[in-house]
Amino acid sequence: MSKTIEKIEKNQCTGCGLCSVKCPKQCVLMVEDEEGFRFPKIDSSKCVGCGLCLNTCPATTAADGLYSKYNRSYYCGIIKDNEVLIKSSSGGVFGVLAEYIIRNGGYVCGCIYTDEMEAIHILSNRKQDIEKMYGSKYVQSRVEHCFTEILDHLNSNEMILFTGTACQIAALRLFLDKDYSKLYCVEILCHGVPSPGLFRMYKKYLEKSLGGKIKDIRFRDKSRDGWGSEHRTHIIYEKQGKLYDKWPILPAYFSAFFYGLDLRESCYQCKFAKPERATDLTIGDFWGSWAKYKKRFKEGISVIGVNTEKGSDLFLNVSNCFTFLEYLSEKEAIVSNDNFTHSIKRPKERTAFLSDILKKGYSGLWLKTYFTWTCRKKTLVSIYGAFVPEKIRLKIHTIKR
Ligand SMILES: Cc1cc2nc3c(=O)[nH]c(=O)nc-3n(C[C@H](O)[C@H](O)[C@H](O)COP(=O)(O)OP(=O)(O)OC[C@H]3O[C@@H](n4cnc5c(N)ncnc54)[C@H](O)[C@@H]3O)c2cc1C
Repeated sequence: MSKTIEKIEKNQCTGCGLCSVKCPKQCVLMVEDEEGFRFPKIDSSKCVGCGLCLNTCPATTAADGLYSKYNRSYYCGIIKDNEVLIKSSSGGVFGVLAEYIIRNGGYVCGCIYTDEMEAIHILSNRKQDIEKMYGSKYVQSRVEHCFTEILDHLNSNEMILFTGTACQIAALRLFLDKDYSKLYCVEILCHGVPSPGLFRMYKKYLEKSLGGKIKDIRFRDKSRDGWGSEHRTHIIYEKQGKLYDKWPILPAYFSAFFYGLDLRESCYQCKFAKPERATDLTIGDFWGSWAKYKKRFKEGISVIGVNTEKGSDLFLNVSNCFTFLEYLSEKEAIVSNDNFTHSIKRPKERTAFLSDILKKGYSGLWLKTYFTWTCRKKTLVSIYGAFVPEKIRLKIHTIKR
């Protein structure tokens, strides 16, 4: 019998679910482990040992042929449409790309929250669904159920915009097994994905403490205080038929993600976090913008990496949707965004942190996050970000430079 996907090292598996879609016997199930991340599990009574699950896995050498050799270019920019910009996590690039694709008869695949606040990808051409895709959901999203539907649309010669993490894009491209001229793959620059199990626990904790049903969790929401600080988690909940807002100070769930304490093991050695990319476009936060663009900093600025000719054509088609767009050298683009070149460092407390929280309950998260030895410097930055007003912070930052 050949090796199956269960032979893969746990710290290699990205949880993309491609193995479960590829299996001709439908015997690979994606099951949450004790840390709340999904891993493949084989129903050995049905498995015929064909090995397809392992041979097409993006974590094995299968993904090596996906990297582009194109001469990459970089930009930073902010979109014109203020309504979309305010709902986006960075400069709103996703919003203009999605609008362009739909206007031209295509479909967009992106991440939304379900009514139960589970992060999943959906494929749609409806404006109301695209709006749900705006903004970063800091939890691993489920994606594999969209692959077959995407293939059907591509076979009908329809345009598809797929947006997600680089590992999800690798999985989709390996599923499709050939290049499609009408498929545009846009990756969000990602330093890692937190555990869906922990996120569920966070949601339950919020519902208990707020006494209502969580309707939305908008991380890094700009609508009240602008962009930049991480202390902008906006929670919307429903109680007795009415909607309420909550803006927690020092939100521990977000900080644990930001410090890299609760990420999937494979994220600490992400094979896609390197200058060569396996996608058409890369979009992320342009953190290099503090001093140079301080007047615009409140709006959110995107960094854009153009990785293929197809990506370049798509980007050119939306370039008139920006209120501000500037060319960047590679050095300028990557200097303050590590994920262009390498993965996040694994904090030594990572395993103990997650297992403790998941075993003992969410209420200890605040203490564990802010008093973790590795993260003590970041904790000071968080306190500074939460309590020092934006105006003063901008001044200090400019003097520092
Ligand atoms: C888990 C995660 C980690 C990130 N880490 C970094 C980082 O370290 N550095 C950095 O510069 N940027 C990071 N980002 C990306 C950044 O936060 C913005 O999402 C990105 O810049 C796009 O912003 P936008 O304004 O163009 O559009 P937005 O409207 O903010 O982007 C929405 C897009 O994000 C996708 N998306 C949202 N949540 C998820 C998810 N859970 N999984 C997959 N796709 C998702 C949607 O499909 C949609 O395409 C991360 C995003 C996520 C979700």
